[in-house]
Amino acid sequence: MNYCDLAPSYIRSIAPYQPGKPISELERELGISGIIKLASNENPLGASPAAVAAMQNAIKSIALYPDGNGFELKDALVKRYGVAHASITLGNGSNDLLELAARAFLAPGDRVVYSAHAFAVYALATQAVGATGISVPAAAGFGHDLPAMQKAARDNKVKMVFIANPNNPTGTFLSADDLLVFMRGLPPEILVVLDEAYNEYLPEDKRYDSVSWLRTGNGEAVGDPSASPSRGLKEFPNLIISRTFSKAYGLAGLRVGYALAHEQVTDMMNRVRQPFNVNSVAQAAAVAALRDVSFVKKTFELNQRGMQQITDGLAKLGLEYIPSFGNFVAFRIGNATAMYRRLLELGVIVRPIANYDMPDWLRVSIGLESENAKFLHALKQAINEKVA
Ligand SMILES: *Cc1c(COP(=O)(O)O)cnc(C)c1O
Repeated sequence: MNYCDLAPSYIRSIAPYQPGKPISELERELGISGIIKLASNENPLGASPAAVAAMQNAIKSIALYPDGNGFELKDALVKRYGVAHASITLGNGSNDLLELAARAFLAPGDRVVYSAHAFAVYALATQAVGATGISVPAAAGFGHDLPAMQKAARDNKVKMVFIANPNNPTGTFLSADDLLVFMRGLPPEILVVLDEAYNEYLPEDKRYDSVSWLRTGNGEAVGDPSASPSRGLKEFPNLIISRTFSKAYGLAGLRVGYALAHEQVTDMMNRVRQPFNVNSVAQAAAVAALRDVSFVKKTFELNQRGMQQITDGLAKLGLEYIPSFGNFVAFRIGNATAMYRRLLELGVIVRPIANYDMPDWLRVSIGLESENAKFLHALKQAINEKVA
């Protein structure tokens, strides 16, 4: 018998997530060293030294179960964002939170809207619970088409919408104004998961306070004063904001993220999570990382410079790229598969994004100045060899 047949058809039809190639794997395959990985949007500065110290300290108590309620991390988030403990869900990476949202609210047959070229996990989380995804064609320039997504959500009686801002792998950005128009035009029974994994990379003039759209009226700011009072104390009780410590905080290997939402939404998400989904070392590191504001600032500034370096280099090579608001950029290249392979041989791992319906594009993460230079050098060499 075929054991795959024992799984429900919606599980059998899932296409597995394709992660970036680990350095160790390429080292084994090619027998070379000095490989650089610019494939998974990791922080080239590593983690904050304060987070590393907190992890070393937390290891001493590793025989004990973690705090299943994550009190200290939630407390640090309460202090930072002015939300209630009861509005916070902690996750094993923000990937966990996307799945918790799906598992808590979606049943087989429910419909979900997300954008074409949006982060792959939205489709995975949707399919894993037997719900049906509706992928809405992107706007010009690969961005989310919010008016079309709003229409698709209303017309199809969907239960949930996933939005990535900025989106990965395209790096496209939606303004706070556009998001507010989208949210206000949506019935409150449609949940919106706003994935802000790259929030910390937004330039100052693009930053917006999505958390203020969630806060209660207990003496704290409520989003926009022009918001409809019929929405109650919280402007958007149907909004779930997810954030991560994997990107700007440099803790991708640790797996920790958080979601902010209405208490009732949070309650449901917490009912379906593993009791100890965030380990004790991760909780300790996240608290320290959250406090290390200067590390995040340094990361942001390095990324700004690196983005300029890489996009200047791409332009010099005559390559088209999508202006990005994250720590990565997608560029168009004739034969992306051949180019990807040649770059591997030259010791540079980037990310093919054919699975995002972008077969002639590659995505490169912004690295250290020397890594960006190595990437551009390898790319130029491969182009000169007529690889793509
Ligand atoms: C990287 C990423 C995430 C989640 O990463 P975690 O490591 O699971 O926190 C979520 N959304 C987007 C758009 C991402 O690129």
